[in-house]
Amino acid sequence: MTTFRQLLPAPSASALPYDTLVVGAGFAGSVLAERLASQAGQRVLVVEKRRHVGGNAFDRHDDAGVLVHPYGPHIFHTNSSEVFEYLSQFTRWRPYQHRVLASVDGQLLPIPINLDTVNRLYGLRLTSMELEDFFHGVAEKTDHARTSEDVVVGRVGRDLYEKFFRGYTRKQWGLDPSELDASVTARVPTRTNRDDRYFTDTYQAMPLHGYTRLFESMLSHPNIHVMLGTDYREVVGTVPWKHMVYTGPIDDFFDGRHGKLPYRSLRFEHVTVPAPGGTLLQSVGTVNHPNEYAFTRVTEFRHLTGQRHEQSSLVYEFPRADGDPYYPVPRPANTTLYRRYEAEAEQLSDVTFIGRLASYKYYNMDQVVAQALSSFKRLALRPPAPAREAAQSRLPAVA
Ligand code: FAD
Ligand code: UDP
Repeated sequence: MTTFRQLLPAPSASALPYDTLVVGAGFAGSVLAERLASQAGQRVLVVEKRRHVGGNAFDRHDDAGVLVHPYGPHIFHTNSSEVFEYLSQFTRWRPYQHRVLASVDGQLLPIPINLDTVNRLYGLRLTSMELEDFFHGVAEKTDHARTSEDVVVGRVGRDLYEKFFRGYTRKQWGLDPSELDASVTARVPTRTNRDDRYFTDTYQAMPLHGYTRLFESMLSHPNIHVMLGTDYREVVGTVPWKHMVYTGPIDDFFDGRHGKLPYRSLRFEHVTVPAPGGTLLQSVGTVNHPNEYAFTRVTEFRHLTGQRHEQSSLVYEFPRADGDPYYPVPRPANTTLYRRYEAEAEQLSDVTFIGRLASYKYYNMDQVVAQALSSFKRLALRPPAPAREAAQSRLPAVA
């Protein structure tokens, strides 16, 4: 991977235009850059405004030497063999199945809600079949689960909804579950067995040497140049390119001309504590706090990474409205606004919009990789476009 901070003079910029300018070095941008360079023989410039690759999946060793995720815990899971096999070209894996406990009524109980959650919460000894009847008894069925409240009360009733979901969701999104699409809380299933894994996907594993190493390996191709610490607007008019892959916030690309799309942000508080003999503070990777504190959850990284160390690093997540855009906010008004940007994006034949921020979709990493692989297949089928100076383009970003 060739990286450089200042473009001018760009390497061979005038002699050899880039085939593709990729904006953002997260999963969306990096996968497309890798595919275009290695499979289509393209010259690719990746421009990333942060000083590192990996987007929000970036990891690094903190001052104590513990491998942490500065932008919050990232656990890889997928049902797609295509995605898993693709990424396996760039990393070996450490099998890891994530478990989460929720602090409710003075107990730490499994979430997703399962047989043990209900039995321990209410002091019962139900079997799985009896739990099904229990859920039938308490669930408030609606014809169509439209909101995040409908989904949960429709499955497990109001008491479990209020104890496990209502407070967490209000903190995380600054909205009541009744104001959010069903898809948000539907991410968390309900189980009548004792399976306490957070995910049940076929492939659940962490990159053995971390995400950043995976990205470095992906981008390490002689035809890929990576420019860090640079907003694409600084170079879009000076570097010739034929096609752009844009993975930043879609409304930002259009200078917010239809209004700002809301993204939820987080403040991360990282702490490192002594862990003599390599002990762990938490019994599981993440502890959720639906009802107390301003933070939603606490994650202890060594559970995820398997790293042995005499210290342990944890991250507390404090949701907030302002700051880096981390989550699109799935609700009808935002989807309507997004559609206006999407319609404009579709008019630009020389720009492809992909990734969580550019698609305004609550995608996990594997979904972004899958989206990028499909985009590559579509792009690879297109006839080559003539090179042109971006300064003459219709892009609103060009001053
Ligand atoms: P990003 O990773 O956001 O990359 C976009 C990049 O574009 C950024 O690096 C940004 O700096 C850059 N950029 C934006 N604008 C510009 C510009 N103008 N010029 C230059 N560069 C620009 N997924 C999972 O599968 N499992 C998890 O456990 C998980 N946990 C998560 C926890 C948190 C707290 C968050 C926020 C997300 C989590 N995700 C998880 C989701 C995961 O982070 C995303 O699916 C994935 O990283 C999205 O990749 P992307 O390339 O679309 O976007
Ligand atoms: N959620 C909740 N209580 C929990 C866990 C999740 O209310 O203990 C809700 C909350 O609205 C959250 C959503 O379910 O934002 C999705 O949870 P997930 O763990 O998938 O969130 P992410 O890891 O993407 O932040």
